[in-house]
Amino acid sequence: MKRKAEITLEFVETIVVRQRNESFQAFCPFCRRTVEMSIPSSAASSAGLTEREIFRRIERGEAHFIEAPTLFVCKDSLTGLKDPRSKDLLR
Ligand SMILES: [Zn+2]
Repeated sequence: MKRKAEITLEFVETIVVRQRNESFQAFCPFCRRTVEMSIPSSAASSAGLTEREIFRRIERGEAHFIEAPTLFVCKDSLTGLKDPRSKDLLR
């Protein structure tokens, strides 16, 4: 006598969207490597700058940023850890 077993598999996928995540690792097209990207206010406080100064540097091309879709600033471009060659590009 054959027995028929019924197995029900249920998969639950959880996608966590961290809205409050102020920084993450991302590829900086200017540094050409993975760096820490932060929202302007967070980048400003960790670099000892004002948020306004961050935007000023972005306008002058001194600070690297990505739009994803909100603005994130490359922390390396603020802390002077950037490649010396990139200085020449920003002059
Ligand atoms: Zn960068």
